[in-house]
Amino acid sequence: MTINTDFINDQSISEILSKHSKPDTAKVQEVLVKAREMKGLSLEDVAVLTGMSDPLQMKELFDTANFIKDTIYGKRLVVFAPLYITNLCANECTYCAFRAKNKAIVRRALNQEEIKHETQALIKQGHKRVLLVAGESYPKQGFQYVLDSVRSVYEASYEGAEIRRVNVNVAPLTVDEFKLLKAEKIGTYQIFQETYHRETYKKVHIGGKKMDYDWRVTAPHRAMEAGIDDIGIGVLFGLYDYRFELLALMQHIRELERAFGVGPHTISVPRLEPATGSDLASQPPFPVNDLEFRRIVAILRCAVPYTGIIMSTRETQQMRRDTFALGVSQISAGSRTNPGGYEEDDEISGQFSLGDHRPMDEVIRDVALMGYIPSFCTGCYRLGRTGQDFMDLAKPGAIKAHCGPNALSSFMEYLNNYASPETYKVGVDLVERTIAELEGLPAERARKLVDRVNKGQTDVFC
Ligand code: SAM
Ligand code: SF4
Repeated sequence: MTINTDFINDQSISEILSKHSKPDTAKVQEVLVKAREMKGLSLEDVAVLTGMSDPLQMKELFDTANFIKDTIYGKRLVVFAPLYITNLCANECTYCAFRAKNKAIVRRALNQEEIKHETQALIKQGHKRVLLVAGESYPKQGFQYVLDSVRSVYEASYEGAEIRRVNVNVAPLTVDEFKLLKAEKIGTYQIFQETYHRETYKKVHIGGKKMDYDWRVTAPHRAMEAGIDDIGIGVLFGLYDYRFELLALMQHIRELERAFGVGPHTISVPRLEPATGSDLASQPPFPVNDLEFRRIVAILRCAVPYTGIIMSTRETQQMRRDTFALGVSQISAGSRTNPGGYEEDDEISGQFSLGDHRPMDEVIRDVALMGYIPSFCTGCYRLGRTGQDFMDLAKPGAIKAHCGPNALSSFMEYLNNYASPETYKVGVDLVERTIAELEGLPAERARKLVDRVNKGQTDVFC
């Protein structure tokens, strides 16, 4: 099936942006009031929020995003770890250390035994969710290598514990390949367009299959056609004007909603980070400063309230703290971006520099001290609450009655089995305080689930 890619329409984006480049106070207020209804925003509304500049209005935007985050997600933050299986790549993305011609890194594709070892290292830290990541060149088995790798992650275990959800970030596939990936029971298929601006896309992708913009922008269509319900999309901020990218992201979301009745499950917001052997990565053509970055997160929270926002390990501790409050709902912790990095670290051969080097236990303690509940829950995926089913449940707010208690029970399981004594103490205080603040059904459910975990049960959720 050929898909028309006109849904990303540069001209209409430019027109909408210039129409709202200096919105008046009343217009901004109108959009923020609408955002608080939590039904999402139009492209024009998003343009208004990118056009305003008054510091007081910016504060109101942040307050609105915080209100939405608290109402829908409460204090929970889903935690995952990336697992890089190979840094072999046939593409030439000028911002990435893995690009084919970069001689400065050591190339490695993990074999299945090594993947199991890496997975065990993550299980030992307490992880339950893994994002499997690969360059676009597989060892001689070809795409079967990715399928085998997903299976290896699910098969690995350590002292009876296992990874419960494997999400995947690999190059665009055909519908048939996506069907095979779905058969391996992946959670989310994730793919970032990097930049939606065609001219910039062409400039930064100078070799390999990734040069084909249309093949990449239609990957979510093919994945959904193959029956993968949960799709993650994203932009690599720093390559082009973030205002344009936000509107294009909205056009992509609307297109998926039009074609499949449901938009993406998550949006990722990576910022360009320095990468070995890449000048572009150290000098982004459109750098996004910290305030703009917070604004991006806040605007997305208002625009698509029920879509998860993923913040990676690329951001510093301080930036993570600031953006949790604005709408981030998933974070990575204790990450390494070089294949084999959990057993032996070699940052030079990683994909980019990491802003946050702290071990998982420290990240978890820090998150808990801020009052956020690290969630290791995989309940929705296990119960088949994905895609439209997840959105149907999420929209009326009912998800809170599931996610809140499940976050607490999965966090308690982490505390009992993996936390240092210091983190355990901080965590248990938080769990008990949180249950005491709950009322009705969520309170009842949380108490029961946490008690079951404390009696030694694992993997309990509702
Ligand atoms: N090779 C596949 C692809 O390009 O889609 C999947 C894996 S690639 C390693 C995952 C993502 O890393 C890319 O989509 C890109 O957004 C991000 N990335 C690459 N270089 C980066 C850099 N210098 N800083 C931050 N993120 C980067
Ligand atoms: Fe390869 Fe992906 Fe890096 Fe591009 S971003 S060089 S495709 S690993």
